Amino acid sequence: MASVFSRIIAGEIPSYKIAEDDEFYAFLDINPVAKGHTLVVPKKETDYLFDVEDDELGRMMIFAKRVAKAIKEAIPCNRVGVTVIGLEVPHAHIHLIPISKESDIYFNKGKLSLSQEELKSIGEKISGAFK
Ligand code: AMP
Repeated sequence: MASVFSRIIAGEIPSYKIAEDDEFYAFLDINPVAKGHTLVVPKKETDYLFDVEDDELGRMMIFAKRVAKAIKEAIPCNRVGVTVIGLEVPHAHIHLIPISKESDIYFNKGKLSLSQEELKSIGEKISGAFK
């Protein structure tokens, strides 16, 4: 069965899309730890990030770099932090999280509860900055 992320990529489940190309898709995490928390996933479904083939993994990082630059431009922060967990959704993905202090990237401090309007507005800001 297709992963929830493959269903998002196929348009079967809605998402706040940030950017996509032939191989990768970036969208807002629906339960963000910080405003602008974004996920980057390969369209080809692989469970574990470090099982993604070398060339594809390299291109994924370069795509994530472009997304991170857009986040940095759209959301006030010192850095865009990078996390890989993958315990909940078995479809390789990278978390990109705008941070100004270490605790901004903590997953165990509870998720933000943002309205649909706020997520939409954040998504539009980041996608508008994507080059
Ligand atoms: P993990 O697999 O542990 O890296 O966590 C999966 C992440 O995907 C979590 O941060 C979830 O909030 C996020 N997530 C799960 N389902 C969706 C969805 N339908 N849209 C956006 N983000 C999601």
